Amino acid sequence: MLRDQFHLPAGPDGNPLIYFCGNSLGLQPRAAEAQLQEELASWRERGVEGWWGGPDGGWLGYHRRLQEGLARIVGAQPEEVVAANALTVNLHLLMVSFFRPAGRRSKIIMESGAFPSDQHAVRAQLAFHGLDPVDHLIEVRPEPGESMIDPVRIITAIEAVGDELALVLWSGVQYYTGQFFPLEEITAAGHRVGATVGLDLAHAAGNVPLSLHEWDCDFAVWCNYKYLNGGPGAPGGLFVHERHAQRPDLPRFAGWWGHRQSDRFAMKAEFIPEYGAAGWQVSTVPVLGLAPLLAGLPLFDAAGGIAALRQRSKELTQALYDELAQIPDLQLLTSADPEQRGAQVSVYLPGHRPDLEHQLSAAGLVVDYRQDNYDGSGGGVLRLAPAPLYNSLDEVRAVPELLLRTL
Ligand SMILES: *Cc1c(COP(=O)(O)O)cnc(C)c1O
Repeated sequence: MLRDQFHLPAGPDGNPLIYFCGNSLGLQPRAAEAQLQEELASWRERGVEGWWGGPDGGWLGYHRRLQEGLARIVGAQPEEVVAANALTVNLHLLMVSFFRPAGRRSKIIMESGAFPSDQHAVRAQLAFHGLDPVDHLIEVRPEPGESMIDPVRIITAIEAVGDELALVLWSGVQYYTGQFFPLEEITAAGHRVGATVGLDLAHAAGNVPLSLHEWDCDFAVWCNYKYLNGGPGAPGGLFVHERHAQRPDLPRFAGWWGHRQSDRFAMKAEFIPEYGAAGWQVSTVPVLGLAPLLAGLPLFDAAGGIAALRQRSKELTQALYDELAQIPDLQLLTSADPEQRGAQVSVYLPGHRPDLEHQLSAAGLVVDYRQDNYDGSGGGVLRLAPAPLYNSLDEVRAVPELLLRTL
């Protein structure tokens, strides 16, 4: 465990809080500050020449310094990934390229109850093509009374839309219920019916093992401030499969930073994309925004990579699941099957508890609480996410008492 490589926020008594909110904002790696200082020093001492001079050849190739680390985390080749823009922006940019409704093939399928930003983006893209979501957006929901979506339902739904399906957009780990979907099977089903497949990995990147290249997904997006500890508002990540690395036929909302670097500064009107994912950059690389991520990525390698972390994560999450299952009257929404969940257990609580998050953090436990978007019954959902890079079994074991005291 690399707990001592992170800053742990302290509670009122000065002791570290039990921080189970790494699915929302990962903690600060201790190395982040020095990396930021390094970029500030370069700016201070070199001004504009910081782009060409200084450590590691200057900021011009800054995105390349992140590619290998990110690629290992999502199971890709380095040129298939880039850190740029932000998750929702990347979703828009990649839908411009990969959601190309034509004739009968004009529909999108996604999980019901997807993260609101994804729902906004999908509806906005449909509207952009003059399509009504009522007819063109298919949302797959769990069976009545269930919180997990049976994977068989997903595959069946994809097959049912068949040659009318233009895009499968699916989440890796569902942000609310913690369900980890069988992404390889979903991707294959989408491709069988001739659709493109995009994944939202906001809650999956840095959490569960991914093999985007091998699974043959067309594109994926994620944020770097959740399990990847890149800091508040850190630029997002995107993946574009090697098959699409050099396709001048793809429409893009292009910008100069996606133009090939060799003649970017020739300032010509013609857009010639950089090879691979880097061609979807739009604006100047946000150096200060990416510095903490650059500092934090090596911790995943130090932990033995995602496979080793996942092992540890399963132990923590199983222990948490077992602890929570013993508390009377708690309804666990997350699957009991370790293969169908990430580092998260979601708990449904009846009744209106607007102050619960605050009460829990005063008791020493930082979790996330959302009111009433599970089944409209007026209850709410607590999400507890033990991050294997810095959370411990002792913290997991302390949870029931803190919960019982507060609920
Ligand atoms: C966290 C999250 C987002 C956030 O999007 P930003 O553009 O980074 O603000 C979007 N989608 C999902 C599924 C998320 O979990």
